[in-house]
Amino acid sequence: MNVVMKPSTVMSVIIPAHNESQGIEVAVKQIAEILAGCVDNAWEIIVVDDGSSDDTYQKICTLSQVDARIKGIALSRNFGKENALLAGLDYATGAAVITLDADLQHPPSFIPEMLDKWRAGAKIVHAVKRSRAKDSAWQKFTAYCINHLISGLGGINVKNSSDFKLLDREIVDIFTHQLPEKQRFFRGLTSWLGFTEDYIYFDVAEREGDESKWSFWSLLELAITALTSFTGFPLRIVTFLGILTLILGFGVATDALWSLAKNQAVSGYTTIIICLLLIGSFVMISLGIIGEYIAKIYDEVKGRPHYLIRGSVGIDDD
Ligand code: UDP
Ligand code: MG
Repeated sequence: MNVVMKPSTVMSVIIPAHNESQGIEVAVKQIAEILAGCVDNAWEIIVVDDGSSDDTYQKICTLSQVDARIKGIALSRNFGKENALLAGLDYATGAAVITLDADLQHPPSFIPEMLDKWRAGAKIVHAVKRSRAKDSAWQKFTAYCINHLISGLGGINVKNSSDFKLLDREIVDIFTHQLPEKQRFFRGLTSWLGFTEDYIYFDVAEREGDESKWSFWSLLELAITALTSFTGFPLRIVTFLGILTLILGFGVATDALWSLAKNQAVSGYTTIIICLLLIGSFVMISLGIIGEYIAKIYDEVKGRPHYLIRGSVGIDDD
């Protein structure tokens, strides 16, 4: 009897995809070709369809029918890229896992180099953006602000970092089993973990398919998640604002008492209006900052799952 041995998966590639129907086939085929060149048969590609409204998932199913190493997970709705990545990590079986975007902005040609670094002992290989020449001025600006804020306040280096990474199985297991938090910032958490890290440097390629899937609000949400999960510094700003108001208050009070002692009538209208507006806005900003942290705590204690799956193709139930 012929026993067909199932090749053990050495490499898993995870691709989060939201409305990527236009470019997903090209991306998967290109990645498959590169994987075949460096790990022969022992690979799998898991495309996580993050609630696409186009036929991204149907295209993954078709690809999977032709080649069973191409697998798909369809989330029940759009849960965001961070959760899509986590779904992929939960189901990946590889000894090493690479995460990369569906629009080929993370060049798959770097996969062999990442694998070499992994084989040389690195537990995490970060792909760092050498240039953002292809990004729009707005993308460059937002990325600069967010990354510098998080790096400066959170004490982890995410400058020019990307979600294009290779993670060893040990890291994937820690990521999926030992980090129970709901609010996740993949880029930051992988830096926070420590372990042996290595880096490759790449130029961001032109986006395949249509425009970026991030709206202004989703970027803002990501920035707030990143900040609140790595630093409590904004809360300290509230204290600083309080001290600033106190100092200003002393100044204004001294001036008012001095005028009173000298029997000089002061026209207080302007001063009162300025004080009211300043204190009012400081209080509102402070409430806003505290509110953001409370909202994050609320999300954590609700304990809802990171994502829900409505279907999958090629994924082994075991
Ligand atoms: N993406 C996702 N869910 C979302 C938004 C984006 O899975 O809600 C995927 C998207 O399909 C792509 C990757 O995340 O594979 C990066 O998205 P995009 O290229 O739009 O972002 P950018 O390159 O501007 O960071
Ligand atoms: Mg992109």
